[in-house]
Amino acid sequence: MADLESPTVTLSDAEWRKRLTPEQYKVLRKAGTEPPFTGQYVHVKDNGVYRCAGCGAELFASGTKYDSGTGWPSFTQPVGDGAVERRRDWRMLIPRTEVRCAKCGGHLGHVFNDGPEPTGKRYCLNSCALKLDRSARA
Ligand code: FE
Repeated sequence: MADLESPTVTLSDAEWRKRLTPEQYKVLRKAGTEPPFTGQYVHVKDNGVYRCAGCGAELFASGTKYDSGTGWPSFTQPVGDGAVERRRDWRMLIPRTEVRCAKCGGHLGHVFNDGPEPTGKRYCLNSCALKLDRSARA
């Protein structure tokens, strides 16, 4: 598993600002959250692989995407064990588990235990942290 403290893609804050849109920077680098039902992938059902908008790493396959009704794109599992990292997030009263890209450390969203079968997980992500690659096989 990749070590969150030493991601393999490391850019300076200024470089991230240049590479990302202001919205992407706020979510990926500052752990922000886009408003529900505003992201471009909430209702998308196209085939492909969702990559990290920061570094391009493959993160979630379209086949694991489902409609959670929350207003954020939701998935039951990442493409592989090492694709994302999870860590405790204490910024709200109830602790949550944050999900980050293992390659660049970018914040993607949170994972909850109220998802559907087969995993029971709900990876609740920000659209702007993702980029759907429709040419990739899901
Ligand atoms: Fe990344």
